[in-house]
Amino acid sequence: MSNQGPRWFEQRKDFVSTWRPDDAEASGTEGDHPDLFTRCPSCSEPLFNETLTAQLWVCHLCGHHFRISAVERLRGLCDDPPSVVVHDADLGSVDALGFVDSKPYPERILSSRKKTGRNDAFISLAGEVGGVDVELGAFDFAYLGGSMGSVVGEMITRLYERALERRVPAIVISASGGARMQEGVLSLMQMAKTCAALARLQGAGLPYISLLTHPTTGGVAASFAMLGDVILAEPGALIGFAGPRVIRETIGEELPEGFQTAEYLLEHGLIDRIVPRAEVKPTIVRLLRQFLDLPPVAPVQLTQPGLRSAAQPLEKPDPTPPGRG
Ligand SMILES: [Zn+2]
Repeated sequence: MSNQGPRWFEQRKDFVSTWRPDDAEASGTEGDHPDLFTRCPSCSEPLFNETLTAQLWVCHLCGHHFRISAVERLRGLCDDPPSVVVHDADLGSVDALGFVDSKPYPERILSSRKKTGRNDAFISLAGEVGGVDVELGAFDFAYLGGSMGSVVGEMITRLYERALERRVPAIVISASGGARMQEGVLSLMQMAKTCAALARLQGAGLPYISLLTHPTTGGVAASFAMLGDVILAEPGALIGFAGPRVIRETIGEELPEGFQTAEYLLEHGLIDRIVPRAEVKPTIVRLLRQFLDLPPVAPVQLTQPGLRSAAQPLEKPDPTPPGRG
């Protein structure tokens, strides 16, 4: 267990005022002022960064959900971000297979570490959400496309194991290209390992909420991400196993419109609900408290979920232990 100190969130470079989502980068055109506004990749309208930040990086014109960082997501979800305990941040991947594609795997690890400031593509925390103690984590898509290698698999497994040990709910926010090809079968076995730990958690009657964000694909979609007691997804998120081109070429047929979007999956019964970003925290809090038979919190306390400061903590948890049985 490692706690990186009370100001961990504030120290992250993601939170300086110039922070922009990575999917905004490609949308800028010459003459744009990225420090002032960002062009929406969906409706092409220029949007003031200040407005976007206030609206949790959701376009107020067309509803496009920009990709936000793992830290931003966790910060939006935790009641009191400075008080969270960070787990397993010291774990780092090794190049067990001596894998080289267009460049050696160790070089990719090094550049991802420099880019994101962390050792691998997942952040694992213990904190409170809506006054409920939880173990939660989020994928960092900026680190090798949020791919799951041995370290990410181990961190998620430990997250479920800690939740079981403490008898608290688990929450995982996915944004991943799937298993990490540079670790070959070592990546693929993480699917079985994480699912085995999750089965023990669910067998003990403890709730697990999975939030799927754009994109959740490959071995992550094919394992724990789709095994939530409740599976939530952000609007428009791409969710699937293989990419549409691979499927199209394999089956030799055109794919239906909207294939592999959150909306398509909801229509076909694969996920439980699509939740706009501003509703993510209130929805998760409501679910957690229903699962644990706790009284609901006043809606007014949940109206500013994403970038709310810790100045107004939610009500303290009920003294009864949160485990259900
Ligand atoms: Zn838009």
